[in-house]
Amino acid sequence: MNALLELTGVTKRFGGLTALEGVSLSVGQGTIHAVIGPNGSGKTTLFNIISGIYTPTEGEVRFAGAAVTSKPLHQLAAMGLARTFQNTRLFASMTVRQNVLAARHGRAHPWRFDQENARRVEEIIQFVGLADVADSSAASLPQGQRRLLEIAKALALEPRLVLLDEPHGGLNHAETARLIEVIRQMHARGMTILLIEHEMEVVMTLADRITVLNFGKVLAEGTPAEIQKNDAVIEAYLGR
Ligand code: ADP
Repeated sequence: MNALLELTGVTKRFGGLTALEGVSLSVGQGTIHAVIGPNGSGKTTLFNIISGIYTPTEGEVRFAGAAVTSKPLHQLAAMGLARTFQNTRLFASMTVRQNVLAARHGRAHPWRFDQENARRVEEIIQFVGLADVADSSAASLPQGQRRLLEIAKALALEPRLVLLDEPHGGLNHAETARLIEVIRQMHARGMTILLIEHEMEVVMTLADRITVLNFGKVLAEGTPAEIQKNDAVIEAYLGR
């Protein structure tokens, strides 16, 4: 399997605290890969390193065959890597459509508002199921739809890899089901997805592969079936 994203020996220290230590991770092209682990195990730090927000103390990040360690997110976006954030970052007073349009600006420079772009924006809004609220302000949306709008903004970049940071956080049952469906459809369209997720049921139903972090190190890596019966994982995490 070809790796679309590859981390090698990534260590991140904050002063005396080692948040990540020698983490290697390979995300196969076209897979849904989940990163799980207890609070403070380094998941967010890992995402921040992949998306160029933090510079690793040691180690390397490669995306689509190129070294991208510490590259800023807007440059990564132009290469086909998009991410969502745990706390949604939306333009509250703008409509759903305007938010997706604004996100699409990240895709190419110079950017032109033409029919093709307008058409793609409508298609993305439709795809995540927000067509009925396209003219509503982002601030007026319930939490579930705000998450879907975050995803729509990532999709506006037409990414090859999408990083989803706890997409299911704060969602009710119906919203979670909708979100899982959208992630499945993204996968079906050939997108590669790397997600941080707390909800074990969501991870086990969605992921092709799972990396378990514990105290900043990779505790285990494997398929959901392998992870579920891994003794170290059960002890550190699942068996709580
Ligand atoms: P998780 O997302 O798995 O809960 P984090 O990556 O947020 O874990 O945190 C891993 C460790 O790194 C924690 O001990 C956290 O306090 C520490 N940490 C994260 N970001 C910073 C930072 N900017 N400065 C100092 N310590 C940090």
